[in-house]
Amino acid sequence: MEEVQKLVADLGEKPYRAKQLWEWLWKKSAHSWEAMSDLPKAFRAQLAERTLLRPLVLAEQQKSTDGTIKCAFKTWDGHVVEGVLIPTPTRLTACISSQIGCSLTCTFCATGKLKRIRNLDAQEIVDQVVLINKLAQEHYQQDLSNIVYMGMGEPLLNYANTMRSAERITAPDGLGMGARRITVSTAGIAKMIRKLADDGARFNLALSLHAATDHKRDRIMPINEENSLLDLKDALRYYTRVTGKEVTFEYILLRGFNDSLADAQELVRYASDVHAKVNLIEYNPIDPTATPGTTGSFQRTANEDAVAFMYFLENKGIVARIRQSRGRDIDAACGQLANKNEPALKEGERVMKG
Ligand code: SF4
Repeated sequence: MEEVQKLVADLGEKPYRAKQLWEWLWKKSAHSWEAMSDLPKAFRAQLAERTLLRPLVLAEQQKSTDGTIKCAFKTWDGHVVEGVLIPTPTRLTACISSQIGCSLTCTFCATGKLKRIRNLDAQEIVDQVVLINKLAQEHYQQDLSNIVYMGMGEPLLNYANTMRSAERITAPDGLGMGARRITVSTAGIAKMIRKLADDGARFNLALSLHAATDHKRDRIMPINEENSLLDLKDALRYYTRVTGKEVTFEYILLRGFNDSLADAQELVRYASDVHAKVNLIEYNPIDPTATPGTTGSFQRTANEDAVAFMYFLENKGIVARIRQSRGRDIDAACGQLANKNEPALKEGERVMKG
């Protein structure tokens, strides 16, 4: 807000204009200065001279048979990022992206096949929430109840914009959502997890674990080579001690790779040390034609094996649940975001300068 107040003062406008401008920028995600209808024309012209407005544009949406809606957002510089609206009987969740592409090359993930182009700025992250919230109102007559930073990219490699966007989403003069309704999911960068604790992050933290031994995790998540499970465990224990918050482990079940009861035992050992609960996630094949052993070649664990895995964890005192995949038919499920429709998008009109 301070920067907006300063801008308004610099342009010689009355202080109350700052609140109006703030709301257009951060609550309504205005696409142009012209749209800010309660601001004087001369003021809008001054703003257009002085400032770049770079909102995301909802370029395309696809609705799944289960009600999930995948959105392709076009950025001001012509790139596409994806976000997903996930309806369940109790929640309306927005899964949002933090980067265009990703540098981490996790082998089960379609985004990992795209190279990282750039970080999204805080406004672009908030815009996804505002635009997906509009869809929630349109399709389900309700506001979003939850936000997960689990779309494209690694949020902790875009730390400043992740923190800034979460602040805007939770600020009473921003979107006013409760911090407990926001979850940031990381592939595991130990020093940034410690930083989250030191910076007093109030949102929930999830770690994409997916394997509980370094030997296996190295094979599917190259980031593990520099952030071993021991380093992560130390960082997570620091985080839970400083914040008093629990963490969640996300664990995609991959048939024949990490879904045996021996794997479950390793997971119990690791999760018990951190006091984490576990979300077991159904795998969504990203390339059914992939050669065995290569990226995208994993198979989904059979339902009964997934249930047995979950019961094993529960019997050992670990809180676990199976998260059903949503939006699989439109490639909107976990690990499937990969801008498959990008070539079909029309050249987005640049609403802004720049
Ligand atoms: S799982 Fe997350 S961190 Fe890994 S490649 Fe996909 S988007 Fe990047």
